[in-house]
Amino acid sequence: MNREVLVRYHEVGLKGQNMPYFLDCLVANLRRATRGTGVQGVWQRQSQIGLVLSPGASPAAVQREVQRVFGVVKTAAAWRSSAELEEIKRTVIAALEESRRSFSSFRITANRADKSYPLTSLEVSRELGTFVRERTGTRVDLTRPELTVYVDILSSKTAFVYLDPVVGPGGLPVGTGGRVMALLSGGIDSPVAAYRMMKRGCQVDLVHFHSFPLADGSSREKAVELGELLNRYQFHTCLYLVPFAEVQRHIIATAPPPYRVVLYRRFMMRIAEELARRRAAKALVTGESLGQVASQTLENVVTIDAVVEMPVLRPLIGMDKAEIVSQAEAIGTYPVSILPDQDCCSLFVPQHPVTRCTPERAERVEQGLAVEELLRAAADAAEIRNIDEAEVQVGGR
Ligand code: ATP
Ligand code: MG
Repeated sequence: MNREVLVRYHEVGLKGQNMPYFLDCLVANLRRATRGTGVQGVWQRQSQIGLVLSPGASPAAVQREVQRVFGVVKTAAAWRSSAELEEIKRTVIAALEESRRSFSSFRITANRADKSYPLTSLEVSRELGTFVRERTGTRVDLTRPELTVYVDILSSKTAFVYLDPVVGPGGLPVGTGGRVMALLSGGIDSPVAAYRMMKRGCQVDLVHFHSFPLADGSSREKAVELGELLNRYQFHTCLYLVPFAEVQRHIIATAPPPYRVVLYRRFMMRIAEELARRRAAKALVTGESLGQVASQTLENVVTIDAVVEMPVLRPLIGMDKAEIVSQAEAIGTYPVSILPDQDCCSLFVPQHPVTRCTPERAERVEQGLAVEELLRAAADAAEIRNIDEAEVQVGGR
């Protein structure tokens, strides 16, 4: 039987003028995510999208891809039927046979989007419930059924039957929220921060600072790998790899050790803002969470932000480490993040950096530095990696 994967999206707050744009983005992202899985057509009606599968395509495989598309609230691998009750009955039986589900109790959950349909949802459920009970010798259990058979009557012509809807990631389609530039270290937090901005619809460019050749290239390799993993959620990613050693050499020569981390961060921000401008990105994103380490006290956050005009978004600011770790595990970045690397911020810094640096103090320490020149040279030296889905075999390496 012909199979279709149904997709429900987030409706609240998306009505109005932006709706067509939102939907176009969502459909384009669904097409990208399911490329190569046998989707031969896409339709859209009310708050539902349907992916029509070619014969032989695996609905489960399509559903797996759909689950990484932001904006998807629910997805189900469905059987298509006409809206005529007798055919819905036949489709339900076919679905039960094809799925080979064994169950001793069930319920029918019917829903009609078309209110002019001659039967109410309850009547449809009753009719089908009686029919399935008689045909299968099982019993109806409305409160704790072993199996729920869903029947959605979409219009006077079309209905769908499905068994196991799964929840999607929610959020908004990538591309609807504008472009941001996320500072990506090799650590656990910043990939999660980038992910969370994607989930709110942003297209996220990434920038990683590395100290090669002062340090080995391990953090750079991790950043590329993290970029590839994150690209699963936005399909195209622009990753900047910025050589930071030169800036660090100057900072080390000028700043007392306790100030170096804050100064590294201020330069990272400046360079990231410069690159963001070149990409017409509108905000910077970091993985900081308040108080987690010495450089992330409120005072230091203020001192770091003081050098840029763009808003700095910190989606993890109020999260605990444990919450961030579990999210990193869920999105698949954790195993890469914990690989050992030589992080540029650990170079030539003391055990106890300043925890309460003020912007004025930082400016004084920076007086001997050619800030503009250094930041421009670093931005110009950035290596640009364009990560595209078709070229990346995540998990297949
Ligand atoms: P993470 O796990 O993201 O490394 P962290 O808790 O280790 O975070 P820091 O090392 O203090 O925190 O870094 C704070 C933020 O600064 C990071 O989340 C990231 O956004 C940015 N950052 C730090 N180092 C780099 C780097 N080498 N390249 C790009 N951004 C960086
Ligand atoms: Mg870090």
